[in-house]
Amino acid sequence: MYKFNSEIFSGVKKLLETDGEIVITTHYNPDGDALGSSLALSRYLKKKGKKVSIIIPNDFPDFLRWMPGQEDAIIYFHHSHSADVLLADASVIFCLDYNAIPRVNLFKEQLFAARAKKILIDHHIQPEDHFDYMLSVVETSSTAELVYDFIRAMGDEHLIDVETGVCLYVGLMTDTGSFSYSCNYPHTYEVLAELVRRGIDTEQIHRLVYDTYSENRMRLLGFCLSERMTVLPEYATAYIWLSKTDMERFHFQPGDSEGVVNYALSIKGISFAAFFTEKSDRVRISFRSKGNFSVNYFAREHFEGGGHRNASGGDSFLSLTDTIEKFSGLLPRYKEELKQAASQSTIL
Ligand code: 5GP
Ligand code: MN
Repeated sequence: MYKFNSEIFSGVKKLLETDGEIVITTHYNPDGDALGSSLALSRYLKKKGKKVSIIIPNDFPDFLRWMPGQEDAIIYFHHSHSADVLLADASVIFCLDYNAIPRVNLFKEQLFAARAKKILIDHHIQPEDHFDYMLSVVETSSTAELVYDFIRAMGDEHLIDVETGVCLYVGLMTDTGSFSYSCNYPHTYEVLAELVRRGIDTEQIHRLVYDTYSENRMRLLGFCLSERMTVLPEYATAYIWLSKTDMERFHFQPGDSEGVVNYALSIKGISFAAFFTEKSDRVRISFRSKGNFSVNYFAREHFEGGGHRNASGGDSFLSLTDTIEKFSGLLPRYKEELKQAASQSTIL
């Protein structure tokens, strides 16, 4: 039973032998892995004859709007009443790509209260223990890879069709930045090889996800890099910020700032990047790092967030200016760590 604790997996397998409604949930602001793993699992379970619904908290970016099955996902923000009924009546709820119930944000109370058995499939570190079955593996590329492993462990690899493969590939590709981080595992490439054998067109999937910039989005990226980026070589840090006014100017759409933070990190000698976006009630922050500097720890400690060692997110309830000031003020504490991570990133 690759990767999974056999006792826990057996429990899940048994649970799935019973009838009843299954609901698949994923985190707020769903990304390619959240949506890809959910769609793939749903498609598989339907092939097994199960009654399955997917509930996602809010809209996903337009560049995922072509994915097989996405039209059937119920978006809680728009359909909270029917979603509440599904959550209350479900006998099994899958929790994909998040490690703590509050990460679903809009329906966390309903999820806590649901009578269903909750099964976690996730790769974030330090999962909370409010799930009945936890298939939590950190040493993997993505939740999509774990869903592949899950289907295989169920003995159902043959049920992975092209559409399921496409959904899984989107998760693997987007969560690894097109195979540039969190992917130094032989197994990841074995899964990829299997998906290609099943007929997925990796080049076309890449185009569908990444070659979809609107003119506004591309100009916003240019603006971020030319007008809104600060580089602090003494702390091996670069950050980018966007105010509400900036976003209005470029007719900001969900997903338009996806990937912006990575540009700051791709500067030579930079080991820590942050991206601040001003929302109506908070400042949302994306953190990225190279090497041993843990942005998960940094986000947890200072910005009510978390995630992975090299990719995390957090929130600040200060103003944008005060948030950036707080951030800059923290850097001296981490100077040595940041410098070390930066120098490690320039040698083989
Ligand atoms: P992003 O910067 O793309 O929003 O998030 C990067 C990673 O950190 C994602 O894997 C996401 O799941 C995780 N993450 C983002 N925000 C939070 C947060 O507030 N709490 C936790 N625990 N993880 C987060
Ligand atoms: Mn993920």
